[in-house]
Amino acid sequence: MKLLIEHQCPQCGAPAILEETERLFTCSFCRVKSYLTRSDYFRYLLPHHAPENADLIYVPYWRYKGTLFSATQAGVRHRCIDVSHQALELATLPISVGLRTQALKMKFVTPAASGGFIEPRLAHGQVVKTFQEQFHKSLPRPVFHQAYVGDALSLIYAPFYEKGRFYDAVLNQPLPTSAGHETPLGRLPSVKSHWPLHFLPALCPSCGWDLAGERDTLALACRNCDSMWQATADGFKEINFATLKSASRDGLRYFPFWRIAARVSGVALSSYADLARLANLPVAMQPDWQHRAFRFWSPAFSLRPKTFLRAATQATLAPPRDNFTRSLPHGEVAPVTLPVAEALDSLKIILAGFAKPARRLLPRLSDILIDPQRYLLVYLPFETGRLEFIQPDLNLVINRTHLQTTS
Ligand SMILES: [Zn+2]
Ligand SMILES: [Zn+2]
Repeated sequence: MKLLIEHQCPQCGAPAILEETERLFTCSFCRVKSYLTRSDYFRYLLPHHAPENADLIYVPYWRYKGTLFSATQAGVRHRCIDVSHQALELATLPISVGLRTQALKMKFVTPAASGGFIEPRLAHGQVVKTFQEQFHKSLPRPVFHQAYVGDALSLIYAPFYEKGRFYDAVLNQPLPTSAGHETPLGRLPSVKSHWPLHFLPALCPSCGWDLAGERDTLALACRNCDSMWQATADGFKEINFATLKSASRDGLRYFPFWRIAARVSGVALSSYADLARLANLPVAMQPDWQHRAFRFWSPAFSLRPKTFLRAATQATLAPPRDNFTRSLPHGEVAPVTLPVAEALDSLKIILAGFAKPARRLLPRLSDILIDPQRYLLVYLPFETGRLEFIQPDLNLVINRTHLQTTS
């Protein structure tokens, strides 16, 4: 189910509903395009049904959505997670918001939101650790490395109020009498909402043209001056990109990949020859491989976990030759939905997936350090089949049903 979020056009104030992953937004009244950015994470409110005069108290819950990859003796395992966890340590309040994030229409917290917001006491790192330990139990031992890949860490505020006793304001139902009293909910330090949403006008910083992209894209294109941009706290920042040339022009769909140059220590991995040895590639070593720099490749779009790893591994093991052009692809282009930071988190898992023999390398994983240096966004052309997309150079086939919408 899609998570819907109420919001207002920053230009004219007209109401709008965004889906959780939507960033680029065209107002249906004033037609102005804006792009939603964040400095840390998004904060959402669950809707309340409290009486009008109730003083609302908002309890914070961390929500995490993504995939946990674990490198184990038996191979790389994955698990999709969408969990929430109370960010206070109040035993009498629900430990998570359960399915409410899916069943209810949430709002962004804006400075207009009334009520007291209790600050999280548990750092999100601690909560993530708890999740990790839970999932750890079901894995075959030993676990050599774990990585979260996914982009949605957010804070959800659940409304409560006090009227003789504490009420769950979502349902407007009293909590058990002990709840909230044992721990004085009303006396916990709280703050007023002071979290503005940041919108950037979707205009090219270089030439002023309208930026274009899908509604959920993390990278916006200027078709006028052939440039790509990503939003940061200080505005749009240019992204280096390239497009792999293709002999055929028709029926192509371009998918974005992050090509990442990293310094690897703890194992020899600086040239393509090193890679061939480490992955035990079943091909004859070519003399020029010694001089061909090694790069990691990761999809820059969301895929089902297994397909994500396979695509990353295949692109890393058999990267396309640098037959690139510095202009935007013509034809259908898939949006960037996986940020480079997430791709960086997955590098060790990618390495764990291709290193052979695994039983010799995996125990050394914790000594291996991967220090990313530079990245390039590369658009690779795929032929479009009825059921799948095919990249012939990489011998990579992506089933249409394995493309994952991020919501
Ligand atoms: Zn508007
Ligand atoms: Zn431009």
